[in-house]
Amino acid sequence: VPLLDETIGQCLDRAVAAHPEREALVDVPSGRRWTYAELGRDVDRVARGLRARGVGRGDRVGIWALNCPEWVLVQYATARLGAILVNINPAYRTHELAYALNQSGVGLLVAQPEYRTSDYRAMVAEVREECPGLRETLWIGDPEFLELDGDGGFPADLAPDDPINIQYTSGTTGFPKGATLSHRNILNNGFWVGELVGYTEQDRICLPVPFYHCFGMVMGNLAALSHGACVVIPGQGFDPAATLHAVQAERATSLYGVPTMFIAELGLADFATYDLTSLRTGIMAGSPCPVEVMKRVQTEMHMAEVAIAYGMTETSPVSTQTRRDDDLEHRTGTVGRVLPHLEVKVVEPETGRTVGRGEPGELCTRGYSVMIGYWNEPERTAEAIDDGGWMHTGDLAVMHEDGYLAVVGRIKDMIIRGGENVYPREIEEFLHTHPAIADVQVVGVPDERYGEEVCAFVVLRDPDGTLGAEEVAEFCRGRLAHYKTPRHVHVVEGFPMTVSGKVRKNELRERAARALAG
Ligand code: ATP
Ligand code: MG
Repeated sequence: VPLLDETIGQCLDRAVAAHPEREALVDVPSGRRWTYAELGRDVDRVARGLRARGVGRGDRVGIWALNCPEWVLVQYATARLGAILVNINPAYRTHELAYALNQSGVGLLVAQPEYRTSDYRAMVAEVREECPGLRETLWIGDPEFLELDGDGGFPADLAPDDPINIQYTSGTTGFPKGATLSHRNILNNGFWVGELVGYTEQDRICLPVPFYHCFGMVMGNLAALSHGACVVIPGQGFDPAATLHAVQAERATSLYGVPTMFIAELGLADFATYDLTSLRTGIMAGSPCPVEVMKRVQTEMHMAEVAIAYGMTETSPVSTQTRRDDDLEHRTGTVGRVLPHLEVKVVEPETGRTVGRGEPGELCTRGYSVMIGYWNEPERTAEAIDDGGWMHTGDLAVMHEDGYLAVVGRIKDMIIRGGENVYPREIEEFLHTHPAIADVQVVGVPDERYGEEVCAFVVLRDPDGTLGAEEVAEFCRGRLAHYKTPRHVHVVEGFPMTVSGKVRKNELRERAARALAG
């Protein structure tokens, strides 16, 4: 199957023509539904409305909202106009909002007025003066938004390589960077992610993962669009019970999440009462999945074919994915094989020399999925993408003999204890087998003697329980090398997370270092 050579608008036109009456989008909380014909009509209406407000090709349109149908309409409407959609994390507050608006030069912002205790209207009002480029804000849900319309056609000369999206990275390791992506980048990536899990127009994909992130917008929305499948929105923010309710009510065939989301769903007191038999597949990405969790997802959630995907915002995002018939070992021990039309290699970070199979090194990706660059940051772009077109991921990986890739962690997370490289992931996997431990994160802390020492943050199954460093050491004795055994153990109720569901390890590292100092 060759790559798609079309714009997102052309892909939408094809879907509307091929199956106008099939369902395209369902919002479970509000009960609103769109067929492909209705989706095409409303996307055009929103696109004309945006154009009437001065949005043209190459202009940046910000979107600052949790998951809702309007998000999808705006995603496709901006693509129709050749405008550049700027995804803004709904967890951002005024400082980060102003940064994103100014950094990308947003002229028109689409936002939701409020969510729980967050007053987005007040926050936009607060940054107005700091963001002179921001002309107008359209509020989702306002009558004005619903009447969005105008006249005339759309630009006909859009090209697949035009930039249409700026996505800020999760900010797990520092300040977020604005990856600039084209139609070709993200449409093809969504298509291939869907192709490998075998999507057809029969599929109904439940998406509790955020649309502002590539997991929702590309691996979810664009995978669905390019295969004629239906997107099911279970709610705005993530709620495990609402997610399982949506799967049951809409007979979803596919469910997405980061491992912590699946852990929360499996942990619901009334988990067994949901009918999840419609599920067949799903995608788990973002961070490694413990073996025990994977087993339960495959059996108790009926997702026998669940795929593990690895990627990053800068590569649209997915580079490797497991295949439908992979066994448990490949689904938990690896992140699958490289996607068709892409290349991966593992190199020595210092020299760039390709290392042998089985040896750890920095993972690099090349092909259609590599971003155009970081918006307005040519230096950081040049640091990330080398002259040969390889994106340097900053992740440590091992390529196995059979072509499957294992991600061992981030270069920045690796612990060097007394000259030994210690990979937190390996220790986390091991500690997950401890009967009292529900979840665990391992980081390095400064140590006078060894440079760094291993520190574990644990969430216990029993909220009133205790677990000390000695007990953990006892558990590790004879089974884990002594230099990998955590010297420090902190019992916590949960971990600091990014909105895309990733643990902020640098925050844990700081906390661990503070605990030592104090
Ligand atoms: P920032 O670049 O701002 O620090 P980030 O790297 O977390 O944030 P994303 O682009 O959302 O932002 O995430 C990509 C990263 O997520 C990858 O580089 C990798 O470290 C991690 N990752 C993604 N999928 C997996 C996976 N299946 N297993 C392990 N790690 C993964
Ligand atoms: Mg990153």
